[in-house]
Amino acid sequence: MSEPTQAIHLPDFIVEWVDVGVFVVNRNMEVTLWNRFMSNHSGLDADAVVGRNLFDCFPDLPKAWLSKKVQGVFLLRNFAFTSWEQRPYLFRFPHNRPITGGVDHMYQNCTFMPVKGASGEVDSVCVTLFDATDVGISQTELKKAMARLAESSNRDGLTGIYNRRYLEQRLSAEFDRCRRYRDHFSFVLFDLDHFKRINDTYGHLAGDEVLCVVSRRIDELLRSVDVMARYGGEEFGVILPATAMQSARILAERIRLVIEREPVEYKGIPIPVTASIGIAEFEAAAPSHEHLIRCADVALYHAKASGRNRVACYAPELEAAAPPA
Ligand code: GH3
Ligand code: MG
Ligand code: MG
Repeated sequence: MSEPTQAIHLPDFIVEWVDVGVFVVNRNMEVTLWNRFMSNHSGLDADAVVGRNLFDCFPDLPKAWLSKKVQGVFLLRNFAFTSWEQRPYLFRFPHNRPITGGVDHMYQNCTFMPVKGASGEVDSVCVTLFDATDVGISQTELKKAMARLAESSNRDGLTGIYNRRYLEQRLSAEFDRCRRYRDHFSFVLFDLDHFKRINDTYGHLAGDEVLCVVSRRIDELLRSVDVMARYGGEEFGVILPATAMQSARILAERIRLVIEREPVEYKGIPIPVTASIGIAEFEAAAPSHEHLIRCADVALYHAKASGRNRVACYAPELEAAAPPA
């Protein structure tokens, strides 16, 4: 005759084996239940934990935070929740994902539930721990990819410096900021002289190299708060925050010199390059940032018309000679 099998108590069985951490603590933070998930990941069996104070067993736990959370559940008799995004983990459990995920420990979503005893009063709190590592890794990867995408959509493919879209965005923001705070800034627009001739004489690839070398040289001249971008084919724009026209002129002269001083070398051939530069200063009365670009363009046109390889500052009287907007 076979032994009568003992009927399993299904809820206990599920709590023990479910792939979610489940533990229960009383008002003194003594553990009264510790399931297999908790044993497996913490390395401490129920025998080693049940009946003991949770913080004695796990000194690394955020004691003040967790006590407050649990006390809140006792007091309010309500569920509470904390997601991995607020606090990546409660227990410092390792995870079994590849280290390339960039996540050090198992991310956890935790739920805190009031448990009523025989008297009908809340006498303990049940905590569940859901492993959210996969969600965490994909969200982290997604955020990184989005940041890379946002960054590359602001960059010019050839030179690697910012593109026109980004420049206009920053110019508009700087314009609004200066109008709001009565601050000032200048905008510099420069264009390489006879660039078509460079392409025709040395080839398009040599022209590309000139664009890259020039943008690198100027980038080295600028302060970290200045924003340089490729505005068009062989045209570049620079935003100079907190800079008045006269200081911008000094910098523009340095830009002109750093281009003129040393020819760009391409396959051992020195290519002489010069640039013409127009400057406009922010005016609170201007209708928009586009107006500032137009003013810098008028000054640039004047620099070209005056013989190229020179700097010109915008003045209203230059408008008469400028081409129509
Ligand atoms: P100016 O002194 O009046 O500015 O004369 P320019 O020859 O520089 O001006 P123009 O606008 O006539 O010619 C600009 C040339 O720049 C024409 C175009 O083919 C060239 N260009 C535009 N983008 C690129 C590029 O990415 N690479 C190369 N190599 N050339 C480019
Ligand atoms: Mg040009
Ligand atoms: Mg041009």
